[in-house]
Amino acid sequence: MKKVPFITLEKAKEIREQIPTPFHIYDEAGIRANARALKEAFSWNPGFREYFAVKATPNPYILQILKEEGCGCDCATYTELLLAEAVGITGHDVIFSSNVTPELDMHKALEMGVYINLDDATYVDFLASLGPVPETVCLRYNPGGSFTLGNTIMDMPRDAKYGMTEDQMAGAITRLMKLGAKHFGIHAFLASNTTTNEYYPTLAGQLFRLAVRLRSATGAHISFIDLSGGIGVDYRPEQPRCDIHIIGEGVRTQYEEILVPNGMGDIAIFTELGRFMLAPYGHLISTVIHEKHIYREYVGLDACAANLMRPAMYGAYHHITVLGKEDAILDHVYDVTGGLCENNDKFAIERSLPEIQIGDIVAIHDTGAHGFAMGYNYNGKLRSAEVLLHEDGSFQLIRRAETPEDYFATFDFSEFHFGK
Ligand SMILES: *Cc1c(COP(=O)(O)O)cnc(C)c1O
Repeated sequence: MKKVPFITLEKAKEIREQIPTPFHIYDEAGIRANARALKEAFSWNPGFREYFAVKATPNPYILQILKEEGCGCDCATYTELLLAEAVGITGHDVIFSSNVTPELDMHKALEMGVYINLDDATYVDFLASLGPVPETVCLRYNPGGSFTLGNTIMDMPRDAKYGMTEDQMAGAITRLMKLGAKHFGIHAFLASNTTTNEYYPTLAGQLFRLAVRLRSATGAHISFIDLSGGIGVDYRPEQPRCDIHIIGEGVRTQYEEILVPNGMGDIAIFTELGRFMLAPYGHLISTVIHEKHIYREYVGLDACAANLMRPAMYGAYHHITVLGKEDAILDHVYDVTGGLCENNDKFAIERSLPEIQIGDIVAIHDTGAHGFAMGYNYNGKLRSAEVLLHEDGSFQLIRRAETPEDYFATFDFSEFHFGK
């Protein structure tokens, strides 16, 4: 599908007068409409809840919007728990899906009374050592082997560090029941960025059958099943786009075939989507500041991989629109680069684009999740601002850009001459 930015050249110029590029911008209307579509797709399940994966877009203004749309938070660290708490998201509005968990983090999760998702059976003793075990505990499953859809291998759970085996889950449940736990959740995250409508229904089928077996083996009450993240987005124009309504109905079919006949029709479905909730509703807006002509044609941006790591790290495709040239023919081929002293700092390699001039503004698409969040400070590059585009077209700075003072804040400069 043709990828159309949610921002015009005029709007980008208006914002740039107040907030210099580069910045990430988020589309409030898109975020809300998508969150509502997800809720609608699972409305057949009374307990359904999306716990937004905070790591995808850790900004309180974004969490606030999602909270208003009925979402909770999925946190993995102490700091993410603090962020959720700051927005008033606590207790069972949070699921804590951590791994290699420090004691401080687990303490905070217990103090907030959140759902705790244990990555391993050895965490039962860890949890018990910190105080009374919560009434509801979630366990993360790893089925091993490969995860396939049809004939396609999607991922290799046996190589993944997460989760525990079925036997370990049964053992952990039995121990936890002796320690006072009464209700259990089951969680698994087996494939990432899937663009087929089959992923969630297939995963749900596996987890529902697992729930039936674990109930038989232990007698435990399973209260929720957490399908975690993994629904992807169409980063490339030619990729299919997931249809959340079809996905919701696919999960429902499995639910009615497996859980309901086993008397387990009270189970709530949880999700921990990150990418699906936010990626398409963010752009990285950047200005072209240089061009060069050597063995290839290059255009250089004021943004770099420190603002968006995915292309450098995974070779990931992010679509680029030159604002104001949406309908121009793509008769030039460019490498679009940032200014890090790293040759992998390229947003696009040999990409067909319209002719680009210095001063043009580009929108790099699908940066709303795992975009700003994966930023870093290599080469002394500073993190950018984040801007929220409201439904009425007005905009709001929701995180200012870093300054050199922020970058140096962890040094004691009293013996040196910074800024003097
Ligand atoms: C990263 C993560 C998610 C979100 O994944 P997406 O691919 O963004 O949907 C959900 N749950 C857990 C435990 C994660 O680590």
